[in-house]
Amino acid sequence: MRALYEIREALGCLLFPSECPACRCSQEHDGFCAACSAQLRPVPVSCVPKYAPTTRSLFVYGGPLRSAVVRLKYAADPYPARCLSALLAAGFQGRESVAWCDTLVPMPLSWWRERERGFNQSVLLARGLQARLGLRWSPQLLRRKHRPPQAGLTATERRVNVQASFRARPCPGAAILLVDDVVTTGSTLLAATNALLAAGARRVLPLTLAAALEPGHDALASHAAWQEVL
Ligand SMILES: [Zn+2]
Repeated sequence: MRALYEIREALGCLLFPSECPACRCSQEHDGFCAACSAQLRPVPVSCVPKYAPTTRSLFVYGGPLRSAVVRLKYAADPYPARCLSALLAAGFQGRESVAWCDTLVPMPLSWWRERERGFNQSVLLARGLQARLGLRWSPQLLRRKHRPPQAGLTATERRVNVQASFRARPCPGAAILLVDDVVTTGSTLLAATNALLAAGARRVLPLTLAAALEPGHDALASHAAWQEVL
């Protein structure tokens, strides 16, 4: 899958026509098709991750966005990465909250997970933002030990599981954008943030493409309305 993606990236769309990363319909441009774009929902302002409330997220994790992320992460197919990376970059470029940052760190995977998947999806997602903002690209600042999978654990169990899993290299005074794909409780982002702060970072701002909402939250605003307020 990765080799095919890299060939496609090299040759552009000459031999590999674009398709929607969610429903896979053919189209003339990269990105979600019109029908899938209409289903993207912005994260409500009132919805913040419990353990990392400073996190900024763009979309509710569901529908076509979830399909594209699942394709990227669990089918190990990097095709959706360019579309999702462009969404992330467009969503955060120009925001005041990211203007003070000078360093970009994608959320690391453990070596075991990255070898299994063939790539780190957060690295692929963050590249668009790095290109637009011109931040220092520093994936080496943060390392992650392999831990049992988080799925199925309670929030408390997740925190315990991740607290000791990050190690950061010295980064005195750095103002860091920490980029991840999806946030749930925020326990992973909190552990990574704490590791960077302990290594000397001045500030850390976690950014994610999507947020998995708890039951009861509804994203009522349309994607079009959200774009108007960017
Ligand atoms: Zn589609």
